[in-house]
Amino acid sequence: MSSGITTPAQLERLGDHLKKLRLNKSGERLEALLQRAATDDLPYADFLEQVLGEEVAAKRSQNITMRTAMARLPFVKPLETFDFSYQPSIDKKQVLTLASCHFIEHGDNVIILGPPGVGKSHLAVSLGLKAIENGYRVLFTSAASLITALTKAHAEGKLEDKLKFYTTPRLLIVDEIGYLPIERMGANLFFQLISRRFERGPMILTSNQSFGAWGDVFGDRVIATAILDRLLHHAVTLNIRGNSYRLKEKLKAGLVRSHDENTSSQQGGEI
Ligand code: ADP
Ligand code: MG
Repeated sequence: MSSGITTPAQLERLGDHLKKLRLNKSGERLEALLQRAATDDLPYADFLEQVLGEEVAAKRSQNITMRTAMARLPFVKPLETFDFSYQPSIDKKQVLTLASCHFIEHGDNVIILGPPGVGKSHLAVSLGLKAIENGYRVLFTSAASLITALTKAHAEGKLEDKLKFYTTPRLLIVDEIGYLPIERMGANLFFQLISRRFERGPMILTSNQSFGAWGDVFGDRVIATAILDRLLHHAVTLNIRGNSYRLKEKLKAGLVRSHDENTSSQQGGEI
């Protein structure tokens, strides 16, 4: 490409154009890219591809950062940080299939069950991050704060807005169902949300309680059955049976016995 001479006035005009078009990355990089194009004698199309490629990559990464903040994740741990070898009861292939996010298009819920510390929240967050990378809007909440928020909104006559808030994101993650018992009103409101989302989009739910115990969690067998009926209509369940990752180091040091040696119960119990 003929390098020509870029005058300071022309650089300034180019900078203004890029600013008006909100092509910020190109604005920052223009001088360096022009310099390189001149030195390497780049063809026109290669130069243009380089400028636009950098801009698109920068916009994508900004977008991911923004949607990650909007998702209110409690921590950011990509799936790549999950050690599958520590948790053999998890079908790694199944999780990698979920990571491709087809379940979102199909409207399948993902329910992750298992005792404390086995990586339920970690997997839920990691799948949430994959959904964000794939362009979906995601929202994370604990079951307790979801129900507190719905109950408060109901009392203030703002339930409709709150239900909208939780149904708008394409993927809703509800963590820690079963850690705290849920009042009748809370169970009813949760059921309303599940019914709304049934048409709208899928959820990832985690629980330390088996489905059989959800009657106690929701304090009402009929509501629990109605909730499960909708959730399980299209759902993938991951049942994690293993040792708490938090105890990994202690187990290694032989300070505590493993879950398998300890008990034959597979789920719901404290370790
Ligand atoms: P749960 O939600 O099932 O109680 P967490 O997902 O909170 O468990 O896991 C507890 C801690 O251990 C977290 O810091 C999590 O990142 C980590 N962790 C759990 N399982 C794994 C794993 N298989 N590989 C890497 N880190 C793990
Ligand atoms: Mg958790």
